[in-house]
Amino acid sequence: MTEYHTAVIGAGSGGLTVAIGLAGFGKPTLLIERKDVGGDCTNVGCIPSKTLIHLSRRFAQEGFTPAQVLSKVRARRDHLRDEETAWVHTIPNLTFKAATARLLDATTLELTYPDGLAERVTAKHIVVATGSSPRILEIPGLPAAQVLTNESLFDLNDVPKHLVIMGGGIVASEMAFAFQRLGTQVTIVQQAERILNRLEPEVSALIQHKMSQAGITIYLNATAQRYDATTQRLTIEQDGQALELTGVDKVLQAIGRKPNLDVGLQAADVHTEEAGIITNHLHRTNVPTIYAIGDVSASSAFTHSANQQGRRVVQHLALPFIPQAKEPVYPSAIFTAPEVAQVGEPLSVLQRRFHPDLLYTARLDLKDTDRGYTQYLEDGFILIHALRFSGRVLSATIVAEHASEMIPILTLAVNNGVRLYALSNLVFPYPTLAEGIKKLSSDFVLATLPKLGRELVSYLRYRWRP
Ligand SMILES: Cc1cc2nc3c(=O)[nH]c(=O)nc-3n(C[C@H](O)[C@H](O)[C@H](O)COP(=O)(O)OP(=O)(O)OC[C@H]3O[C@@H](n4cnc5c(N)ncnc54)[C@H](O)[C@@H]3O)c2cc1C
Repeated sequence: MTEYHTAVIGAGSGGLTVAIGLAGFGKPTLLIERKDVGGDCTNVGCIPSKTLIHLSRRFAQEGFTPAQVLSKVRARRDHLRDEETAWVHTIPNLTFKAATARLLDATTLELTYPDGLAERVTAKHIVVATGSSPRILEIPGLPAAQVLTNESLFDLNDVPKHLVIMGGGIVASEMAFAFQRLGTQVTIVQQAERILNRLEPEVSALIQHKMSQAGITIYLNATAQRYDATTQRLTIEQDGQALELTGVDKVLQAIGRKPNLDVGLQAADVHTEEAGIITNHLHRTNVPTIYAIGDVSASSAFTHSANQQGRRVVQHLALPFIPQAKEPVYPSAIFTAPEVAQVGEPLSVLQRRFHPDLLYTARLDLKDTDRGYTQYLEDGFILIHALRFSGRVLSATIVAEHASEMIPILTLAVNNGVRLYALSNLVFPYPTLAEGIKKLSSDFVLATLPKLGRELVSYLRYRWRP
């Protein structure tokens, strides 16, 4: 039985980062994957969805049919997966095995190969990076062939005529815009009272407005009841009333994700909760030899956070003498039209953590920037929540084209204590939408400096009050 320094279960964003990182430090590492190298992001998540979004914007100009777009998305995704797969086989100190792994105890795994053969391996450390799967809402009468998840969506040979999307989160919102542009009639059925309901209410209002403008129908406070395959009618219930959606040929399940915990965690006595495996700041579970990162842990839901957690595990295992920094606040980006990018908590959550009189909110309509003017911009905004007087940035939201490219500066501010005073002195190229960050920061400085004494007193009064 071979003993490895570390065995990594799952070759997605998190697992690949750990395996390649540790192998780079000369540690004999085993990487086990039961499906495709690249995990969800490469195969059924970020890469195909962002390619689809991109191509859906330009397919008409380029003379493609929607079916050709879907086939191009697959080709692009497959090319990347093939590259990643070939790559993992070339990395020194890294052994790759295409198998399903299961924990037997704190240092032993059983690997089952596609031909049914099994093998046991041991490792000093085990990293569980098994990702997540789509949650499914059972809809009576709906044939399995008409149900889509992110795992089957990108295998469609042609676009649906009428796509109903269950859910109103990130995947639902992004795919609604993309399919609507490809000519599909899109209806969103969202159980909550607004879409993107974990973000600032103003984001939901703007994106809902943009969806309606684009021709996407949204039912809020609603859920599906049953489907009649003969008439292609989906009955939904909204505020106690039954409504019929007609001509529905596909239903995309986008109501959320559940962690992939089917990896023998009980055998090793690893503690879990509904959101995933419980870990500490080192991403270590209650079993000292076992770590968990990415979607399977309770603390990550993005590719960049899985990657960062993977880097942190590499640092801890390969360079344990270097102290581990605090885990950063992760930004997120939603590739709707316009994009939404955000870092930190929305105001409703901050108000539970800080006294309301301690919070300073700055907001700017991007149409009021010079770049917004030259672009004839009609909507989009920057919203920043900070501590008054100190100018510490707590959270920020940007809704704009390329918002995802602007959020890193505010992510740096949130994580590294860059205050609004410093941002007001930062020089941005002119004219840019990002310059709005400087304008908002300067507004804060202008509002604070003339009454610095009073601001300091308020700050001291409320800073330590619950
Ligand atoms: C439609 C969609 C779009 C998305 N877009 C974005 C985006 O734009 N940006 C972003 O940051 N995030 C995005 N995400 C989220 C992102 O894909 C995930 O957060 C990320 O893939 C998580 O990485 P991971 O390493 O934790 O898990 P995964 O990438 O899911 O990898 C886990 C791997 O483990 C394997 N595995 C599971 N169990 C076993 C086992 N027992 N044995 C062996 N192998 C096993 C799985 O087959 C899988 O390959 C998107 C998700 C979806 C669904």
